[in-house]
Amino acid sequence: MALDRFGRDIHYLRISLTDRCNLRCVYCMPEDITFRPRAELLQDDELLLLVRLFTEMGFHKFRLTGGEPTIRANVVEIVRGIAQTPGVRSLSMTTNGLMLKQLARPLVEAGLQRVNVSIDTLDPVKFKRLTRWGDVQDVWAGIEAAEQAGLLPMKLNAVIVRGYNESDVVDLSALTLYHPWQMRFIEMMPFGDVADFQQNQVVTAQEMRDTIEAKLGPLTPVDGGKLDGEARLYHLPEGLGDVGFISSVTEPFCASCSRARLTADGKLRMCLLREYEMDLLTPLRAGAGLDDLKALIAKAVHHKPWGHGLAHNVVPMNRVMSEIGG
Ligand code: SAM
Repeated sequence: MALDRFGRDIHYLRISLTDRCNLRCVYCMPEDITFRPRAELLQDDELLLLVRLFTEMGFHKFRLTGGEPTIRANVVEIVRGIAQTPGVRSLSMTTNGLMLKQLARPLVEAGLQRVNVSIDTLDPVKFKRLTRWGDVQDVWAGIEAAEQAGLLPMKLNAVIVRGYNESDVVDLSALTLYHPWQMRFIEMMPFGDVADFQQNQVVTAQEMRDTIEAKLGPLTPVDGGKLDGEARLYHLPEGLGDVGFISSVTEPFCASCSRARLTADGKLRMCLLREYEMDLLTPLRAGAGLDDLKALIAKAVHHKPWGHGLAHNVVPMNRVMSEIGG
C-alpha cells in the first residue's frame, strides 16, 4: 500500500499516453500549442515497466488519458499490456470519443473496462466553438460504439464555460432521463497560459444545479450526497441515470484524493493543481534499478501535497491541462 504523509492510500494512477490531441478545446489548451518530440515521451516498454512498478507498490486502479489517448500509436497493445499486468484491477480511459467508432471493440478485447467520454454540448455549432475543430456527430457515434462494445456504465463529462455552454447543462442532464448514463459536469480549473480565461469564465456547480432544477425539477442527492470518486451524484425525477458535479474549484475533495498522475513525458505529478513533479523518465533512461525507481515513487507519494491552492490564487503555471491529462 502506498500511503502519503497524511495517511491517504494512493492507489489510482492516471496515465497520459500523449500530450497531442485531435481537438483544441478552448478551456484546455491554446490553439497554437507546441507538442513535445516523441522521443521525449515514455515509450511503450518504459510505460509498461512503470505500470508494473506501480502495481507492486499497491496501485490497482488505472485510467488512460491525454492529450487524446486514442491517438497514441499502439494504444490497443498498450491497453493489452496494462490489462495483463498482475495487480491491475480497474482499467478505464477518458477520451473525446472521436476514435471510438473504430476502436471501442478492439479496446474492449484488449482489456479496457470503461470509458468517460467528453461532450460539452449537443449543439453542433457550440461544439465547434468550444473544441475549435470538432464535429459532435463523431462523438455521438463514439458513444454508441462504446455502449455496444460493453464499455459500461457510460459516463459523460462536460466542462461548463460561461459564454459558451452554461445553458447546455439542461439538455445534457436530460440525457439521463432516457439513458442509464452518468452525466458529469466539471467546474473549469485554471492552468498555465489559459488561466485568465479559465478563471473569468468559471461556472460553479451550484449555478449549474440551479439552472438544471429550474427546467427539469429537483435534483435528489444519490447516496446521501456522498462522493462517487470525484463527483457528487444526483437524480432527476423519473431519470434512468445520474447527474454528477465535479466541483474541484468551489467544493474541493482533496481529503479523499487517492490519485497520482503520470505525464506523457514520464513525470509523476501528485496533485493536478500543484507544480510538484518527480521525474521518472530521466533516471529510467540513465539505467536506474527497479528498487531505485520504486524509492522515487515512494518519495513522491510521501510528498503528495495536501490539496490545491486555488482559494489563495495559487495556479499551476508549468503545464496546461492537455499535458497533464485531467
Ligand atoms: N482528450 C480526452 C478528453 O477529451 O476527455 C482526455 C484528456 S482531457 C485533458 C481530460 C478531461 O479534462 C476532459 O473531460 C476535459 O474536458 C477536462 N478538462 C480539460 N481542461 C479542463 C479545465 N481547464 N478544467 C476542468 N476540466 C478540464
